[in-house]
Order: sequence, then structure tokens, then C-alpha cells
Amino acid sequence: MRRFVAVLVVLLAIFPTLSAAPSDSGQLAGYTRDNSQSERQWEQKFRALPDPARIRDNMQRLSARPHHVGSPYDKDNAEWLLATFKQWGLDAHIETFNVLFPTPKQRAVELIEPKRYVAKLEEPAIPVDPTSGQKAEQLPTYNAYSIDGDVTAPLVYVNYGIPDDYDQLDRLGISVKGAIVIARYGHSWRGIKPKVAAEHGAVGCIIYSDPHEDGYFEGDVFPKGALRNEWGAQRGSVDDIPLYPGDPLTPGVGATADAKRLPLAEVKTLTKIPVLPISYGDAQPLLSALEGPVAPEAWRGSLPITYHVGPGPAKVHLLVKSNWDLKPLNDVIVTIPGSELPNEWVIRGNHHDAWVNGAQDPISGMAPEMEELRALSELLKQGWRPKRTIIYAAWDGEEPGLLGSTEWAETHADELRQKAVAYFNTDGNDRGFLGVEGSHSLESFINDVARDITDPETNTSVWERRKLYDISNAKTDEDRKGVRDRSQLRIEAIGSGSDYTVFVDHLGIASLNLGYGGEVDGGIYHSIYDDFCWYTHFDDPTFVYGRALSQTLGTAVMRLADADVVPLEFNGMADTYARYVDELEKLAKKKRDDAIERDRELDEGVFTAVADPTKKSVPPPRLVIPPYLNFAPLHNAVDTLKNSAGKYQAAFAAAQADGSLAKASAVDAKLIATEHALTNNQGLPERPWFKNQLYAPGFYTGYAAKTMPAIREAIEQDKWPLADQSIAVVAKVLQNEAAAIDSATAELETVTK
Ligand SMILES: [Zn+2]
Repeated sequence: MRRFVAVLVVLLAIFPTLSAAPSDSGQLAGYTRDNSQSERQWEQKFRALPDPARIRDNMQRLSARPHHVGSPYDKDNAEWLLATFKQWGLDAHIETFNVLFPTPKQRAVELIEPKRYVAKLEEPAIPVDPTSGQKAEQLPTYNAYSIDGDVTAPLVYVNYGIPDDYDQLDRLGISVKGAIVIARYGHSWRGIKPKVAAEHGAVGCIIYSDPHEDGYFEGDVFPKGALRNEWGAQRGSVDDIPLYPGDPLTPGVGATADAKRLPLAEVKTLTKIPVLPISYGDAQPLLSALEGPVAPEAWRGSLPITYHVGPGPAKVHLLVKSNWDLKPLNDVIVTIPGSELPNEWVIRGNHHDAWVNGAQDPISGMAPEMEELRALSELLKQGWRPKRTIIYAAWDGEEPGLLGSTEWAETHADELRQKAVAYFNTDGNDRGFLGVEGSHSLESFINDVARDITDPETNTSVWERRKLYDISNAKTDEDRKGVRDRSQLRIEAIGSGSDYTVFVDHLGIASLNLGYGGEVDGGIYHSIYDDFCWYTHFDDPTFVYGRALSQTLGTAVMRLADADVVPLEFNGMADTYARYVDELEKLAKKKRDDAIERDRELDEGVFTAVADPTKKSVPPPRLVIPPYLNFAPLHNAVDTLKNSAGKYQAAFAAAQADGSLAKASAVDAKLIATEHALTNNQGLPERPWFKNQLYAPGFYTGYAAKTMPAIREAIEQDKWPLADQSIAVVAKVLQNEAAAIDSATAELETVTK
């Protein structure tokens, strides 16, 4: 769903060396000396197998026709994947679910006043791009799970349509009550825009792609260049995934044939107002018809117009009507049984459905995933037997709302809670730098994997290249020093936006999301131009990064599946959680300082004194000064956690050194439990599906992660009693985590004595 962006890893604190950083030839964490050696040999054999030409062929096959949920080619792809996996001698099957998937019946955006313009809402076929002309099979541009609506109202431009933008509108004295808002894509997941607009009383929402974000401001547009052309529009889901992902009709349970389903009227994740996406070709007549104040400087995009906010005189008619049908999902599941620990599962997935042809999203991740499976099947023929069971998934229905992964994981929740060791996700891939986000217990593990993968463009390791990237992009000297001094690169926290969500957020399974990127500035995301022609001209034409992705994920899967003991690492985790507590304290202090300053400036008359009397300007509201929060329980819990982590790592290092790790596989169950300890049953305030108390997608950001979300969002939203309660809840979770780690230490010491 989300296009990969190489996110700068922010480094602030420096922590002493956490664990020995193995080199290519060193002993692998979680392995005895002998087992490490044989594992390295199998991994080397594996990494020689992925073939860029085959990845290219996979992409061409899977993206040959539009393949959204419920379409003929979506099913055809699932069946082809199944047949191919079976042909490689693998045990594969399809699991089918039935989910709510609306498709558009009627769409209209019309400017009624001061003059008439009927939006085209159409991406034209381009002669040099052979699949762009497959009109009969393409889903039109729309936002799935917008409610039906037919509204006519004055238009207001709301910039990105995030909460801060509405504060700014208040200062301009502009209300969106009864208006249709037009927001540009960017700065939040798209579903946040209609949600916030409706909260402010708007009756409709139009989202457009400004050329500033992914059009001609960034580079030449398709087909001359990689960026979005005048009529390209971004489809996408506006289902309220931060409330719960998956089938809107079956929250918390699998959407099997006999599942109990909510009536449509009771579904809380649909938008409250109708919403449609449009191109900048269609947006320009609307925006240029707006008057009212000139938009603040930061709000101006790259269209050749003066951006005004409105409201009016532009008046717009917006019409959205969908077919609200159930559609079948086909998840393709491959099982490679474990030889010694079959009841421990290492799971790896990428989705196969797309909005249209989807060469980049998701096939640039799916095609390498296939190649991993082919390579693993070759190793099986040569006698390799993974210790643990490996499950590969090709998910359906990711684009509308992480449907295939969520329904599968909800269906198998009890078994997954017992057996799943980790989940590895990809979702698209580009040329560039390795990006990793996920559970911090896997940070050290994935750093070690990245040290063994060769970057195709520089021939250094992808780890080394990423480290140099982080040094080059560090914002402060302290950040730069942090990158140089720490033995491991920090991984980002995980939010939402792809199929890992149910694993990490709902079930408490350690998860990672990986991909290469950062060198390709594309503007075809969720359009008909995200296809084989575009990808092979502008992204990774030789598929060497496809091969690197196969090598990275395949190595990670093998290394975790074959380990004597799962190499989760807790010192780095405790260090990261301590940083979150510091961030929260700073955030609370800033909220307090800002409120004091605001009220002081109101008393001084600052806002009225500096306002231009010929323009409307409203002073901001007076703020209640926030109380001091008591962070002591969190600090104490982090201390306990650091202490427990240190003891575990010492016991682990001793067992690894003396070879007793070979008898210690019973520790795994305790290690799996450490990740569950990060969840609790009641879940987050007002969104009980999200059980993880360390990571969640932001309620008002969507993709971006909020760490210690219950506390952080309570502070951000000025809910002070809730912030205090949440500190107690998260402190308890961290204490539980420390106890779970202690239990793993005790187990390790018993079996290795
Ligand atoms: Zn995707």
C-alpha cells in the first residue's frame, strides 16, 4: 500500500556497544559454532540462486492485466502462483475469504459556479505504454470505502487536510462547516483527510495530487519521466484503518463463509462524508475559481495559479455511489515444514493484489518473494531442512484495507499466538538503500543479515551503504556521532500501511517491514501507469535490487528458521524504549510551555497587534495549562527492563560461547512470550483491536507510527487524565516485558547448566 521511502533513521542518544557485531565469517547469533558454519554455507548457496531475469518474468506475468480484489486477473494470478509453487515441489494452498469491497457505480465532480467545469476523472491511455489502454479491466479513480453521497456546496482549500491545517483556517476565520473541502495528497495517510474534514463539519472531500508532491515540480512527467502527469490520479482506500484494518464487516474475526457480519449501517470504518481523488488537471479549474484569502505560503503547491482558500465563489457538486458487494479474497499460502521445531513458524509475506497493474506496488516485492521460494525449493532438493516451519504468503486484498493478511491472521489467531516466531513483510521495492522498520527485538538480527548482503550499485554491504547514507543525511553532529558510534543501525518503529499490521499490532508477533528505495522519485503510485513499462524504464530496469531483496529476505527467513535459539535481542530494545520515554517527557513539557506562551501572548495582545486590520484574522483560543505528568513509573519500568535485558544477554552470550545453546530450544516459547507481553487485552483507548502498547499507526497520521501510542496521543490531544492513566498502563506492560525476559533467562540458565 505505502510506497517505500527510505526514511532517515534519527539518532539522538548513544548507547554502548550492544552485542558483538558479527562479520561475514563470525559466529551467528543464536547458533552454536558448528551450526553457524553449516548455516553460512547454506545461506551462501541460497544467495547465489535468485535471478534478476526470472524476477523480471514474474513481474511481467503478474502485472500483465489489472488485478484488483475480485477481478478475473486477481484470481488468475492467485491460481498461477499456486500452480507455480506446486510445480517447484512446495506444499501450497489457497485460503479464501469473503469481504466487503465497494467499487464505483457513479462518480462526478463538477464546478457549478462561478463557471462550469466537469472533471474528466479519467487517466488517458498512453501509446508507448501498452497496458495503460486496458480500459475495460481498470478500476476507475476512486477512494474505496467512501460512503455514498450527492452534495453541492462551496469549496474550501485545506492544504493537506490534517488537524494543524484546520487550526490555521480558524486563525483565518474560515469554517468548513457545510463546505466541500479540497485537500492535496501528502503529509498523512489519505484516509485521515476525510476523517478530519468530517470532524470539522465538511460535507464532502476531494483529494488531488499537486504537482509539487509527485508531478512536474519533482521532475519530468510520465511517459517522458517517472512523475505524475496532468491526468494521473491516486486511487486508494479511505477505510479508517487506524480504528481497525481488515474486512469492515468482521472486526476481530476471520471473514470466513459462515462468519457473523455487521450490517453495513453499523460499520464504523467507512468515511462520514463522500470523497473522491482527482488529478491536477481536474483540480486546477476548481482551485483557480476560489477567492477569499491567499493561501499561507506553506500551503501553496506548484500549479501556475495563486492559491486561495475560499470559501467560494467556487461551488462544487460531488457525487459518489458504489456497489457494496462482498468479493472473494485468495491468499496463497506455502508451508515448508520444520524438521525439528515444526510448531514454531517463521512467516514471510507480500501482497499480490493491486489497484490496477501494480508493477511497483506490490509486484516489485511479490516477484522477488517468488524467487526466494524458488531458491528455497532448490535448497530443499539439495538436502537443506529448516529447523522451524516456514510459511510464505501471497496476500490478496491488501490495497483496500490489509484484508487478506488480517482475515488470515484473525482466522488463525490462536495458533499464531502460540507458534509464530516472527513475520517479515515487503510491499514493493525500488533502487537505493535498505530501509527497515519493525520490532526492536529483531534490530540486532536484521543488522547482522544486512551485513551479509551485497549492494548491487556499490558492491559494499547494504548495511555499510545504509550507514554511510545515515551519516550523510544526519541532521545534527550528535546524530552523526550516534550513527558512527553505535554498532547497530537503528530501525524505525512500525506504523501501519501494509500487511504486518495484524501481526505486530493485534497479535504481538515480532515483525519487520523491509525494502530498498530512495533513488527513484516516482509519480505513478496507485495509477494506471504503475506498470511494467514504467518500472522497467524508471525504477529498477535490471532487477538487481529485486535480487537484493530476495537475498535479504531469504537470508533472514533461513537464519531465523535454522537458529538453535531465536536470536531476539533486548538491550537495544530497552535502549529504544528509554528514548521513547524521553521523547514523551519532552512532548509533555513542550505542550505545557507552548500553552503558557500562548496565553501570555494573548494577555499581551500580540495577535491583535500584529494582525493586518484589512485582513480577517482571529486570535487563537486561550489554552488550559496542562498539569505536570508523573513519568516516574515509566522510568522505573525502563530501568527494570534494562536490567532484565542485560541479564538475558549475558546468559545468552555464555550459552552461545560454551555451545550449550544447542540444548536450549525450549527458550523459544519464552521468547515468543516476550513479544506478546507488549500487548494487553483491552488494547488502545477507543480502538481495542490495537493491542500493542508500544507501536500503533497514529489516529491522525495513519501510516506513521506512534510509539507508546496511548500516552503520546493523550498528550497530543490534551487528554491529561488519560495520559496519566496510560503511563500506568504502559509502565505495567514494560514491567511485564521485564518479567517475561527474566523467565526466558531462567529457562536458558536451567537448560544450559
Ligand atoms: Zn502495496
